Amino acid sequence: MSQPGIPVSGGAPASLQAQNGAASASGSLYTNGPVQNTLMSSQVSVSQGYNSQLPGSYPYLIPAKTLNPVSGESNYGGSQTVSPLSNYQGPGQTLYRPPVASNPVTASLHSGPVPRMPLPTSQNAAATPVPSGSFLPGASVQPSSNWQYNYPSTGSQTNHCPRASSQSTISGTTNLTGHQYVSSGDPSLQNSFIKSGITPNTNNGPMVVHNSYDEIEGGGFSATPQPTNQNPTMNRSVGYSYPSLPPGYQNTAPPSTAGMPPSSLNYPSGPQGFNQTPLGANHLTTSMSGLSLHPEGLRVTNLLQERNMLPSTPLQPPVPNLHEDIQKLNCNPELFRCTLTSIPQTQALLNKAKLPLGLLLHPFKDLVQLPVVTSSTIVRCRSCRTYINPFVSFLDQRRWKCNLCYRVNDVPEEFMYNPLTRVYGEPHRRPEVQNATIEFMAPSEYMLRPPQPPVYLFVFDVSHNAVETGYLNTVCQSLLDNLDLLPGNTRTKIGFITFDSTIHFYSLQEGLSQPQMLIVSDIEDVFIPMPENLLVNLNESKELVQDLLKTLPQMFTKTLETQSALGPALQAAFKLMSPTGGRMSVFQTQLPTLGVGALRPREEPNQRSSAKEIHLTPSTDFYKKLALDCSGQQVAVDLFLLSGQYSDLASLGCISRYSAGSVYYYPSYHHQQNPVQVQKLQKELQRYLTRKIGFEAVMRIRCTKGLSIHTFHGNFFVRSTDLLSLPNVNPDAGYAVQMSVEESLTDTQLVSFQSALLYTSSKGERRIRVHTLCLPVVSTLNEVFLGADVQAISGLLANMAVDRSVSASLSDARDALVNAVIDSLSAYRSSVLSNQQPGLMVPFSLRLFPLFVLALLKQKSFQTGTNTRLDERIFAMCQVKNQPLVYLMLTTHPSLYRVDNLSDEGALNINDRTIPQPPILQLSVEKLSRDGAFLMDAGSVLMLWVGKNCGQNFLSRVLGVQNYALIPQNMTDLPELDTPESARIIAFISWLREQRPFFPILYVIRDESPMKANFLQNMVEDRTESALSYYEFLLHIQQQVNK
Ligand SMILES: [Zn+2]
Repeated sequence: MSQPGIPVSGGAPASLQAQNGAASASGSLYTNGPVQNTLMSSQVSVSQGYNSQLPGSYPYLIPAKTLNPVSGESNYGGSQTVSPLSNYQGPGQTLYRPPVASNPVTASLHSGPVPRMPLPTSQNAAATPVPSGSFLPGASVQPSSNWQYNYPSTGSQTNHCPRASSQSTISGTTNLTGHQYVSSGDPSLQNSFIKSGITPNTNNGPMVVHNSYDEIEGGGFSATPQPTNQNPTMNRSVGYSYPSLPPGYQNTAPPSTAGMPPSSLNYPSGPQGFNQTPLGANHLTTSMSGLSLHPEGLRVTNLLQERNMLPSTPLQPPVPNLHEDIQKLNCNPELFRCTLTSIPQTQALLNKAKLPLGLLLHPFKDLVQLPVVTSSTIVRCRSCRTYINPFVSFLDQRRWKCNLCYRVNDVPEEFMYNPLTRVYGEPHRRPEVQNATIEFMAPSEYMLRPPQPPVYLFVFDVSHNAVETGYLNTVCQSLLDNLDLLPGNTRTKIGFITFDSTIHFYSLQEGLSQPQMLIVSDIEDVFIPMPENLLVNLNESKELVQDLLKTLPQMFTKTLETQSALGPALQAAFKLMSPTGGRMSVFQTQLPTLGVGALRPREEPNQRSSAKEIHLTPSTDFYKKLALDCSGQQVAVDLFLLSGQYSDLASLGCISRYSAGSVYYYPSYHHQQNPVQVQKLQKELQRYLTRKIGFEAVMRIRCTKGLSIHTFHGNFFVRSTDLLSLPNVNPDAGYAVQMSVEESLTDTQLVSFQSALLYTSSKGERRIRVHTLCLPVVSTLNEVFLGADVQAISGLLANMAVDRSVSASLSDARDALVNAVIDSLSAYRSSVLSNQQPGLMVPFSLRLFPLFVLALLKQKSFQTGTNTRLDERIFAMCQVKNQPLVYLMLTTHPSLYRVDNLSDEGALNINDRTIPQPPILQLSVEKLSRDGAFLMDAGSVLMLWVGKNCGQNFLSRVLGVQNYALIPQNMTDLPELDTPESARIIAFISWLREQRPFFPILYVIRDESPMKANFLQNMVEDRTESALSYYEFLLHIQQQVNK
């Protein structure tokens, strides 16, 4: 089928002079012409002879093997006809499915010894909170352009137990990071699970089969009221106090001998005095005079007078207004952030603030130091299953009170001994109570089945289009280079499927002299030939795997097959992986055209700049349904889309979104014409193949009674009401949730949030990573505003806006973003400010809110008026949903630095390296000058724009060229020259790259480069043909606020 070529975007010459509101009189020379929307401009056109060519035969490099029909029989329980396909005269084999009973393959696949994973409790679309209608239950009822922050709760987090109130918190400061210990414990003392209707499991056998993850991770709050509350009417201002408090113990450093305690160690005789310091009202700062609030935080700013509020150093998250003893135990904001670091005590107060309440998580981030606890006793609240954490309170040595549901729990005997200090009677100094981020080695109760081996299946598009791009070379070479670095162990399994109009399997059975190709041409009812030899042990079959990777790129070079049976290939891959789960990596280069999941082009290029009638929703539910099947079998699908033409990512992306996979997109990938994309793919594959991976994962987020989580953002499937199913979890994925205040928190000073991620490591260990965040509760609107985290708010709004774009429309989402600013600043003006000054008055915490929202409006996800390809827009939306906050913010509002005059003044010194720290500049062409060079850090991309009159010094001593015209067109590396200027900029760029786990490509941009448009497009403070300048936007906001 023929697809019209997509014309090169943005061809018109630059014409619009960049203006910046009132400041435009400066008459910048730089133009901001029709903006190109592709990062890699679509100069590459891949000609394809669709429709005009006859199918040909593949030049096989793999010798023929006769498929043993017996093995077919044994696997399918029926007669299996195996006959070579005449079309394919090479050694490959084509297998025809025999006309047997409807679905023998499925049956046989699940009949093995491995217990089948439970299916999701709900698999229909309505059970999934994304994409549509999740935060706007009645889209047609609500005014379309406002957020409704107080959505009804799903009820999942509702707590039914009686309320106790005041919490005290331990204040020990022992730093135990990086320590691992084993404590010998009596299994009989393990905290057994009590969940209504479930028999507590005390079986310590090798495997305990539960019905669902919900049971092993633990559900929400028990429906049974707990009678154990001690002080149900406790006044909030009263903390617990303890009789025997030796002074000043809590800052004692831990013994440096952090070894494993011998089990025969003699405990000190008798319990010791209990040492927890009480935290009363005097330990909590309850007002603006808080310890952690810098006086500047109290400033009120008139943005119309002071609009350049961007700090010259990276914006730091606000520090919660907590006593330092609590705050120093708190979770790192890189892992866990809340939009409001001061939680409003009622929903009414939250409604008044008109700010969204939610969490942004990066739960599996690579950590340098992570305390890992190996203990047979994982102490959790018997009522709500919260893991013990630094913010619980100890009533005495033997009892601790849950900070989420307030139940009083017993301290298990084993927990009484602190293996670090080797002291008995110090449960509050255990690492579990000293670290807000901790990982547990999970005992067998946390397993539904024995941990599965790491399984990696690669699915390659080998159609004519795919071969034209030359991507197979890069991917196969990357795999060869990183084969030994794939996370795993001796059990690691690997397999390969290729497809065009048929599906090709590769037998890699140990002992074969060469890989054996098997072709299945029946794409209507896909079956798997000899399943036992297609996913093989990597160690045992490594040579065959290497053989295959070396030959694959050449095998299809002469193919004329243009069709793509992606859907059937995915079905085959799913069947192959079903017994174990694992990671499926799919490489696709065009719109699927054959079999289930075939798609039709539906992008209208002349509609690209419109906010209306664009296809953001999937055109078929095939990919979502298959993703849910995958999720149920612990398979995650990562999609690599390498296509210069419309490929309907809105539909294809569902396969990754609901299976907890990732989407990668390389528009206009071509191995010769687009070398920068090749480099990008190489770098990203290297990270992808070698990064940490967790299998068979689930994540649950709990919060203090009274708060309620109602909407989740990210790539996953919501298995039960609040349990996220993550067949794979990777360290580069971010998540967000929205919350509401369901019950008044007036009796509470502190609330906590805890995420627990249960996963199987690539080494086959079951682990639980727990993060706990503690925040103060406040009663006034001003305090709510003072604690606002503008980056987290912007990030959450971006997630909500993606949903709104899909469920309503893009223009609707844009209006809602703008209204979020207007509503909150109006609330601030009318309810907090006493005297109504003219201007646009904002609290210091929100001084960048209008700027970040304007940047979102100009982000590829939400921009209008520019020629944005649909797939690129969808990809940007996928990124919003799946990126950790820090990268989302860099993508939305990049950091701009002048780099032609770097100096060592204020430089960092790290390991004998001097790293210059140039100030961050506003994103406006006003800040550029033609005699300079400017580096823009947009997260996954670095752009170095070199002005036409840039000094000779920079050209020769940094770029290594004699004049401007000699700067190479596709320069992506700076030469390492023996000059201080070169050393400084290289140190700076390396340092930026070290801040993130992936490798951003550097583009060196000359004034006449096509990439210049991308650079200028990020100048979000400037006006474009279709979007306001920052100053104009502020005026608009002011008019609306002061209405
Ligand atoms: Zn609890």
